[in-house]
Amino acid sequence: MSEVKVVKFGGSSVADAIQLTKVKAIIDADPARRYVVVSAPGKRYDGDNKVTDLLYLCKAQLENNIGCEQVFQVIGDRYKAIEVNLGVDCDMKDELDAIYKKLVSGGSKDFIASRGEYLLARVFAAFLGYDFVDAAGLVCFDAKGRFLEDETNEKLAAELAKHDRAVIPGFYGTLPNGEIHTFSRGGSDITGAIVARAVNADVYENWTDVSGFLMADPRIVKNPKPIDRITYSELRELSYMGASVLHEDAIFPARAADIPINIRNTNEPDNPGTTIVAEVSGPSDKIITGISGKKDFVTISIAKNTMNNEVGFIRRILSVFESYNVSIEHLPSGIDTLSIVCDKKYVEDCLSDIVEEIERKYKPDKIEVHEDIALIATVGRGMSSRPGTSAKLFGALAKAGINIRMIDQGSSEMNIIVGVDNNDYKDAIRAIYSEFVTE
Ligand code: ASP
Repeated sequence: MSEVKVVKFGGSSVADAIQLTKVKAIIDADPARRYVVVSAPGKRYDGDNKVTDLLYLCKAQLENNIGCEQVFQVIGDRYKAIEVNLGVDCDMKDELDAIYKKLVSGGSKDFIASRGEYLLARVFAAFLGYDFVDAAGLVCFDAKGRFLEDETNEKLAAELAKHDRAVIPGFYGTLPNGEIHTFSRGGSDITGAIVARAVNADVYENWTDVSGFLMADPRIVKNPKPIDRITYSELRELSYMGASVLHEDAIFPARAADIPINIRNTNEPDNPGTTIVAEVSGPSDKIITGISGKKDFVTISIAKNTMNNEVGFIRRILSVFESYNVSIEHLPSGIDTLSIVCDKKYVEDCLSDIVEEIERKYKPDKIEVHEDIALIATVGRGMSSRPGTSAKLFGALAKAGINIRMIDQGSSEMNIIVGVDNNDYKDAIRAIYSEFVTE
């Protein structure tokens, strides 16, 4: 069977006719690129607006009894300019009039937001000469808005089998009552992944405005090396890094069907980007795949003699956090010690209450709080097979004079997480990078 690629283009790739012309060249360059998923037009330049934001704004203005003609006009002008500049005719004016009518007569927020993708898919399908296949009725949610994986897969697979080449709008689907429902923001990535699964694609290409992932944040490390291949599990461990490039929920459908995701750059189409795969066979030639991190965590360290003999101690401590609705990021522990690491924003208002409650109810020998902690994850499938990796990492931090406040190593031996003071965050990342990445 011939190769099939699903290609998804994000907002900046479809922002105007110039970008869409680049996109067409990318699609035409490879006959395997048969199914195209699009976002709504994003920003054309710094300070510009995303169409989706403008659509939400229209709805918000109407809810506050402010007219939305002007904002809607701006949206309409963008689509009409795209239609004219691409030289196609797809009744954009009639489409826009119909949407405006629905908008002012109480069309739902999700319906209005979804029209960004809908209109773009229509005009772009005409430009490519591909079929337009609406996501409505094919991408399915239950009455509570939860995505229905299997039902969607069945319906999409059956419909797409009838189309040799098609453009499908991202971001939305339908509820059982036929109303439009959207994924969360950035959700066209998810549509791309479910289309890839439905057509059993060989690869899911996700085209954006960066050439994949880099081994570290380029604002911290100068010219970090690109990551050419990364496994799904490594990416999950590096989630602080990947989140801004790919919607986290897009991973699961592709992973379930074992379809690699290739992150590519519309403005640099020759760059091979990063491929996310299930497994990489054979040993890795690199010890680490990437480093990522985030500032502003809090650690609460509890020491209690013979903690390990006291049945249910850890559960009781955690229940205090649960009662304040605080989610926990990491839980490194020793025989008589336990550290709880959480995002500062979740405990800002309740930290002293939590500490007081633990002291009062569970009488630890010692409880210490460190605020302003940064977490740094050093991740690599090559780490597990190489003894001495942690020694190397800790040595690099010691050489740089950085005090380690917390250590947590995942059971897969694929990641080492260290907590350092917020102030040491950048230096720590630089020290780890230069220790492991040599020319
Ligand atoms: N247009 C939607 C958003 O701005 C969905 C997407 O682009 O993926 O969030």
